[in-house]
Amino acid sequence: MIDSHCHIAGPEFAADLPGVIERAKNAGVIGALVILAADDEPEIAQGTNVAAQWPAVRFSVGVHPHAAGKFAANPTDAAKATEAVIASQPLTRGLGEIGLDYHYDFAPRAVQQEVFREQIRLAKQRRLPIVIHTREAEEDTFRILDEEHAGDIGGVFHCFTGDRAMAGRVLDLGFHLSLAGIVTFPRAAELKEVAKMVPLERLLVETDSPFLAPVPHRGKRNEPANVLYVAETIAALRGVDVAAIGDAVRANFARLFQPGYD
Ligand SMILES: [Zn+2]
Ligand SMILES: [Zn+2]
Repeated sequence: MIDSHCHIAGPEFAADLPGVIERAKNAGVIGALVILAADDEPEIAQGTNVAAQWPAVRFSVGVHPHAAGKFAANPTDAAKATEAVIASQPLTRGLGEIGLDYHYDFAPRAVQQEVFREQIRLAKQRRLPIVIHTREAEEDTFRILDEEHAGDIGGVFHCFTGDRAMAGRVLDLGFHLSLAGIVTFPRAAELKEVAKMVPLERLLVETDSPFLAPVPHRGKRNEPANVLYVAETIAALRGVDVAAIGDAVRANFARLFQPGYD
């Protein structure tokens, strides 16, 4: 299995990172995409430590919509900050997470949109797939992806929580869809339907650690080993062996992020 989205370079993991990595490996997690916030210097520095301890990690770098307000005066600076981290971190394989979050609205929506656009443009220049965070902003997200021709580079909608109609739009755009621990929650009926309909060749799984711990660890700090619960839930819903989910995820991750795993 591969955890396609986690934040293990964050402070929540500083104290026991070796244990976290050990548990992931023991659970059969052979790699992970670790998100680095381009505006967070301690996290970027810790990324180097994470890679030293777990050489199979790859990185995705970007300015999160929550942090877009820092670049309100000049949204192009968000792309410059991201570009600087890409240049300094040779294991970068993706650009993100980037996008729009109208649930929290931590930054003005117009600013979020410009910061999102500038980073899509950078991703196209660098030929990097994008990792999209979108919450309660479906129409603007698809409009901007369309206007910026983001289908040319592709990527993944991380922690997908939309309905089947939105999943269809993601697939039509040529993007992948990554499911997190929410799919294990008993009341996530519509998301379970999405988990059944996504073509295997477009599916990824993630933990979004330290957030969103799946059943049976709900409410605790999440960690990459728990991606197995996500995969097992999807396998059960689809009536297939979990190994089939693992095979698909590894192939999709390799095609999208070029990790260079054997
Ligand atoms: Zn996110
Ligand atoms: Zn995230």
